[in-house]
Amino acid sequence: MAELGGPKQPHNHHKTPHSRTIRIWLKRDSGQYWPSVYHTMPDSCSCMSFNPETRRLSMGMENGTISEFILSEDYNKMTPAQTYQAHQGRVTVVLFVLEMEWVLSTGQDKNFTWHCSESGTQLGLYRTTAWVSGLQFDVETRHAFVGDYSGQVTILKLELDSCSLVTTFKGHTGNVTALCWDPVQRVLFSGSSDHSIIMWDIGGCKGTAIELQGHNEKVQGLCYAPHSRQLISCSSDGGIVIWNMDVTRQETPEWLDSDSCQKCEQPFFWNFKQMWDSKKIGLRQHHCRKCGQAVCGKCSAKRSTIPLMGFEFEVRVCDSCHESITDEDRAPTATFHDSKHSIVYMHYEPTTGWLLTSGADKVVKLWDMTPVVS
Ligand SMILES: [Zn+2]
Ligand SMILES: [Zn+2]
Repeated sequence: MAELGGPKQPHNHHKTPHSRTIRIWLKRDSGQYWPSVYHTMPDSCSCMSFNPETRRLSMGMENGTISEFILSEDYNKMTPAQTYQAHQGRVTVVLFVLEMEWVLSTGQDKNFTWHCSESGTQLGLYRTTAWVSGLQFDVETRHAFVGDYSGQVTILKLELDSCSLVTTFKGHTGNVTALCWDPVQRVLFSGSSDHSIIMWDIGGCKGTAIELQGHNEKVQGLCYAPHSRQLISCSSDGGIVIWNMDVTRQETPEWLDSDSCQKCEQPFFWNFKQMWDSKKIGLRQHHCRKCGQAVCGKCSAKRSTIPLMGFEFEVRVCDSCHESITDEDRAPTATFHDSKHSIVYMHYEPTTGWLLTSGADKVVKLWDMTPVVS
């Protein structure tokens, strides 16, 4: 993965804590990127959605409004098109859906709303349980996937002016920070501050949910490369992981309950009766990540990666599982890269194979992903 060089910011020593500008960066003959448009907004921008076909830019604002612009063909001009008074408080996610002519948005007011992008009128509203940080939409079935700060993903079926709750996915122990939908395989990926990614296999219709463990910090973005069936994920420590999703992974087992080690039968520390009867010291309970058995530390001293269960990092396994895992089983199904900045936003463009990362350091980096995503 070669770094193409972050675009230079002309006035970076006059940074304001909240930027109110929209900049359109164009690649110049010199090979460098310079803004063609430098537009100041009445309030800070909190999120955006860009549709290349219509060149429609939808900006969510700190004050709850969504401002839309149409960019000129040469990207040298942007014209205001529509304003929506969508939320009371910061717009957290905005998503323009061309096929429906809908603008979906969520806000700090815990409302999920959708507007008609032609008339500008609000079509419907749904009250979410927590702040929403991830939003995806399936055009074919009109399902909206809404990921929130409580760690759950709510699936809503949208009608023209109403919606119904289909189901709720619960699996994360931290906020849902990113969502990514693959409409072909019908798979939803959710990333969380608990460092994990869950792949919810909706198309498989078997209720399979696979956990992917490859980050040491909170997951900040998810993108899917459909042609090569690779998932790109990034985290706040700058890590970028590229997952091969063309392999069949297994679900992690449920952790079993036992009052004694399921290998050596020594009692766990709360098992006073057996401790007294056998005059043995109570041990701490651990779980083997492969078989799920409750085991003591001595019977699970070894560590292994289990890539086909989503564990790209070494995890605790019991002695018998450690023996059963072959070198072939340990072949990684993901590659690991360092963006060298704390990523806050990421976007992948499948047509060019380029990845954009935007960092807490206010630097935008462009990466040529073709050597690793193809
Ligand atoms: Zn044991
Ligand atoms: Zn085991």
